[in-house]
Amino acid sequence: MDIDRRKLLMGAAAASVAAGTTSCASPVEPLRPGSKVVVIGAGFAGIGAAELLLEAGFDVEVVEARDRVGGRAHTVSLGGFPADLGANWLRKGNSELLPIARKLGLVDSSTNLQVPTAVQRGKFIPVDIASIEAELEAPLAAPYLWHQTQMFLGGRPRARSISDLIGNSLDPTTASGCVGRRLMVGSSAADLDDLSGDVLIGPSGGDSTADLIEPTVVGGMQSLLQALIQRSKPILNESVSAVIRTSAGVQIKTNRRDIAADAVIVTASIGVLKSGAIDFQPGLPKRHTDALAGMEMGSFVKLWVRYPEASWDLPSDAMVFCDSPDVHFLVDFAKSHGNPVLLGAVGGKRGLALESLSDDEAREFFHDYLQSQLGVALPAPEGFYINRWGKDPLAGGAYMYPNPQFRAHDNKQLREPIAGRILLAGEALADTIGYVDTAWSDGRRAASHLITGRG
Ligand SMILES: Cc1cc2nc3c(=O)[nH]c(=O)nc-3n(C[C@H](O)[C@H](O)[C@H](O)COP(=O)(O)OP(=O)(O)OC[C@H]3O[C@@H](n4cnc5c(N)ncnc54)[C@H](O)[C@@H]3O)c2cc1C
Repeated sequence: MDIDRRKLLMGAAAASVAAGTTSCASPVEPLRPGSKVVVIGAGFAGIGAAELLLEAGFDVEVVEARDRVGGRAHTVSLGGFPADLGANWLRKGNSELLPIARKLGLVDSSTNLQVPTAVQRGKFIPVDIASIEAELEAPLAAPYLWHQTQMFLGGRPRARSISDLIGNSLDPTTASGCVGRRLMVGSSAADLDDLSGDVLIGPSGGDSTADLIEPTVVGGMQSLLQALIQRSKPILNESVSAVIRTSAGVQIKTNRRDIAADAVIVTASIGVLKSGAIDFQPGLPKRHTDALAGMEMGSFVKLWVRYPEASWDLPSDAMVFCDSPDVHFLVDFAKSHGNPVLLGAVGGKRGLALESLSDDEAREFFHDYLQSQLGVALPAPEGFYINRWGKDPLAGGAYMYPNPQFRAHDNKQLREPIAGRILLAGEALADTIGYVDTAWSDGRRAASHLITGRG
């Protein structure tokens, strides 16, 4: 989630910035219909790629290491409420998926994260995200201009960390400063010292959205992915260990077999790519490894709890408890969805630390936190979930964040085809990082590259 919507603040600045030049990937020899393409991964990017290739008459195998489709879209039932452990909201920006989800009748109620309430020294203070974005305009003006000029001159500048860029702006002792900082860490999955300012002033911020009043998905995000599967038949529990270039194309080694193919689209996360779990023979080109050095997988922990009834009455769907640093923000699904369900969001290093707690410890922590911050005695929870994407070797974290080494468009360098037959795709390579719809579009971008030869 870049700083547009889910990464909130990022959008206002990024929206006007995203006009920088996007590097174009080299053309490849287009494949003929009927050619065999292996797609690694059955998340939004993999399914997006496979469906387009199948429509165009290709012979496609989707190979998925998990026992389910969806990847980082994973929905569990919290007493009948679809709790998303990964992707939750449908972005309202320039999304290819929102209209499709509408057509499928899968767009559910929205929560309003546009005007969270800050709770500070006993006072409830509504903070409009637009006012935080306005507060950042002055400190970001000069770095933004410099960054834009460098890109205009054909460079790929680095942007320093967010902490460096914003300096003393967003004073954390004020309501807007507290909300601004918490939402940035919570939603960008990284601490502000570790996060490149590119998400604020460079192209990785992507397009912006009008507001943060965004819909969830009927049955949860995994249902949408399942509904998008028309022609493809993902093979589950099959893990790819190597991608080998051959004179005829590629050979894919899995835990079960070797597959010969004309081309492969690899949608495993950059966490998986960086871990070396897939052995590329020969190794990834330097352009790709250099680009990967500027990218990390962040932690975004979600604490989902269900109570027998909603014995709280909050002034807004989103709350930020400024007097306690333990949870970055809270989302209440009682009014919006009619369910006594609360979601705590914790990003960056604090999130990573929570991933080490047992389920019981995490539930106790969150239950105690809620009682102290809401000032009510809550009954024992009826259900609880915590996600642990950082501990999941098939993800390596929640989603990509650019570190301060990131140079503008580094993620798009990964789109460069390898030997004309190996294409990387997915969330981290998308124009706007960290969303299901952009992962879907990026999978289709890679498929279209093989079909038409142009990237
Ligand atoms: C906590 C959290 C909250 C989020 N919130 C939102 C949100 O509100 N809205 C939104 O739009 N997006 C959100 N996202 C981001 C969104 O989930 C991702 O951008 C998107 O799901 C990524 O899709 P993908 O196909 O690129 O990658 P993935 O979903 O990771 O798919 C890659 C697939 O490859 C498989 N794989 C990996 N290695 C191998 C191997 N060796 N062999 C075979 N298969 C392999 C994996 O198992 C996985 O299924 C969130 C993500 C997280 C984690």
